Amino acid sequence: MIQMKNVMMKYDNGVIAMKDLNLTVEPGEFVYVIGPSGAGKSTFIKLLYHELTPTEGSIKINNFDFSTMKPKEVPFMRRQIGIVFQDFKLLPRLTVYENVAYAMQVIETPEKDIRPRVLEVLKMVGLEQKLRRFPSELSGGEQQRVSIARAIVNKPQVVIADEPTGNLDPETAEGIMDILDRVNKTGTTVIMATHNQQMVDEHTHRVLEIAGGRVIRDEKEGSYGREA
Ligand code: ADP
Ligand code: ADP
Repeated sequence: MIQMKNVMMKYDNGVIAMKDLNLTVEPGEFVYVIGPSGAGKSTFIKLLYHELTPTEGSIKINNFDFSTMKPKEVPFMRRQIGIVFQDFKLLPRLTVYENVAYAMQVIETPEKDIRPRVLEVLKMVGLEQKLRRFPSELSGGEQQRVSIARAIVNKPQVVIADEPTGNLDPETAEGIMDILDRVNKTGTTVIMATHNQQMVDEHTHRVLEIAGGRVIRDEKEGSYGREA
């Protein structure tokens, strides 16, 4: 479960990018975070994966309370979170297989457990034929599928995606969305910041709309625009 209480984020330059944020996300939910450019979506996402520390308030993911967590606990908390970025952030010198395996190696997974799991997730995202390719040899949609495979390979409880379809054409974006829906159906919580109106309207989930650093709408089965 994710819990945010009275969260406020003020950047060093004085900009208050998030205020009065109170939110609970139950395990297995799919939540879109929408809003215009500059609304605070990225700030929200960075607070969630502890890239930013809030100026005020508390954030908890499962048993980890970010404000009281010791630095040595941070890697354990991070294992419960998989992150997908708009620009993929794959390691260019590693193959598809290696990019995904690396995520398991860094948390010291026993070598014998790595290969079957990497092959399993790459199959799930439809890339079992491209294990030896390098990121530069893949389309944008394929690269994003590798990055989703990497995000889920350690079986996180939460996947956080920041504009995952932002660089993709509509058809490719649809394929990515189908994969994220499948990830969610396995019980993984998905939090996705997006501008993609069509996705939000066609793949209906909870919608959190942010404007000026505040949540202005929180709807269980929301659409991109407000209901008339
Ligand atoms: P969004 O992702 O919805 O476009 P952001 O979270 O990036 O919005 O930005 C919210 C507000 O915080 C904006 O006014 C932005 O200019 C400001 N902001 C974002 N990052 C920083 C930063 N590192 N330092 C100062 N202000 C920032
Ligand atoms: P094939 O394509 O003939 O089935 P393999 O199944 O042996 O070949 O390997 C498929 C891909 O997985 C290859 O790109 C291989 O380099 C990669 N691979 C297999 N095991 C590892 C590993 N432990 N670390 C990195 N890459 C691996």
